[in-house]
Amino acid sequence: MGRVGILGGTFNPVHLGHLFVAEEVAWRLSLDRLLLIPCAVPPHKGTRELAPAEDRLAMTRLAAAGNPRLAVSDVEIRRGGTSYTIRTLDELARESPEEERFLIVGADSIPELPAWYRASEIERRAQWVVVARPGYDFGALERLAPILGEGGVERLRRHCLEARSLNISSTEVRRRVRAGEPIRYMVPDGVADLIRSRCLYRGSPAGA
Ligand code: ATP
Ligand code: MG
Repeated sequence: MGRVGILGGTFNPVHLGHLFVAEEVAWRLSLDRLLLIPCAVPPHKGTRELAPAEDRLAMTRLAAAGNPRLAVSDVEIRRGGTSYTIRTLDELARESPEEERFLIVGADSIPELPAWYRASEIERRAQWVVVARPGYDFGALERLAPILGEGGVERLRRHCLEARSLNISSTEVRRRVRAGEPIRYMVPDGVADLIRSRCLYRGSPAGA
C-alpha cells in the first residue's frame, strides 16, 4: 500500500517553491510518490495571464523530470473545464484504490478552502496537509471547522508542517518576465527556456 502526496495548482508557471515543498513533504511524510497536478481552469482565479493548459503541463513535466519520486498527472487537464479537487481525488481513488492520499496545500490557501467545491467531503478521501509559506501563518485554521469533521481543526493542526519554504510565487515570476527581469534560479532551466520560446507572460495582448 503506497503513500502518495498530491500537490495541485495552477502551476502558471511551476517554480522552485513548488518543487521544494514537494520534496520536503515527500521526505517528511515518507511518501512513495508525489503527484503534481496542474488544473485545467482554476475555480477561484481569473484566466487573465493564464498560460495554455498544454504549456503549464509541459512546464510541470520538465520540472518533475529527473526526480524519481515526482510525477505529473494530467487528469485535470484531460478532464477539462473547471477543476474540482474532489473529482480528482475520486479519479485517483478509482485508479489506485489501495493508496493512501495526502492533499498538500500552502498556508496561503487556508482562507480559501471553505469555498472549495464539496470541501467537507475531501477529508474522507485524503489527509489534508498544510505547509508553511513565507508571509502566511496557520492562524486561519479555526475557520476550517465547518468543512472538517469532529475534532478536525485539532487533527489538521497535527498535519501542519512548519517546514522551510521558499519565497517564490508564480505571480512574482510572471511579473518578472513581463518586466524583463531574470527568472533563472526561480524556475528550473527547462521551464525558463519554455517560457522564452513560447513567449509566455510577456504582456497583456488586447483582451487577454
Ligand atoms: P499564483 O501566484 O499564481 O497564485 P502560486 O505561486 O501561489 O501561484 P499555485 O499554483 O497557486 O502557485 O500553488 C499551488 C499550491 O502550491 C498551493 O497550495 C500553494 O499554496 C502552494 N505553493 C505555491 N508556492 C509555494 C511556496 N513557495 N511555498 C509553499 N507552498 C507553495
Ligand atoms: Mg497561488
